[in-house]
Amino acid sequence: MERTLVLAKPDAVRKNVVGKIISRFEEEGFKLVALKKLKLTKEQAGKFYIVHKERPFYDQLCEFMSSGPIVAMVWEGENVISRVREIMGATDPAKAEEGTLRKLYGTNVGENAVHGSDSPESAAYEIPFFFSGLEIV
Ligand code: ATP
Ligand code: MG
Repeated sequence: MERTLVLAKPDAVRKNVVGKIISRFEEEGFKLVALKKLKLTKEQAGKFYIVHKERPFYDQLCEFMSSGPIVAMVWEGENVISRVREIMGATDPAKAEEGTLRKLYGTNVGENAVHGSDSPESAAYEIPFFFSGLEIV
């Protein structure tokens, strides 16, 4: 069964909406297989988002992702990678469709509440970035 890495970003934790994000994925029928709260250093955030290192917003992104605690989780389900991306909505909350998590809980394009792996290849990098095999049940 397919798995994906989801992060409730520092803004979602500050807004106290982590439970709402988890509930939404439970309602979709996905299974929560791993969960932890942690705070990244800026260097760790940089490693997680290494694919964006040449983008103009990279430094700002790493600063934001290390600005407070996040909640990392692994969700399992049929087509969970693409379905989570749909449920999250567009990167910019202002452009995200009604009812999507970023529309509901995002602040702006830089602070958009949630992350979800964008492909099986990304998930294969991102899941072990946060969880060991023993932590995935
Ligand atoms: P994520 O990878 O966090 O799930 P995404 O896949 O929708 O988001 P990416 O293109 O991978 O979007 O960008 C990664 C993150 O970088 C975005 O979630 C956003 O926080 C930030 N970002 C993207 N574009 C911009 C921008 N133009 N200005 C500021 N931050 C941006
Ligand atoms: Mg992305």
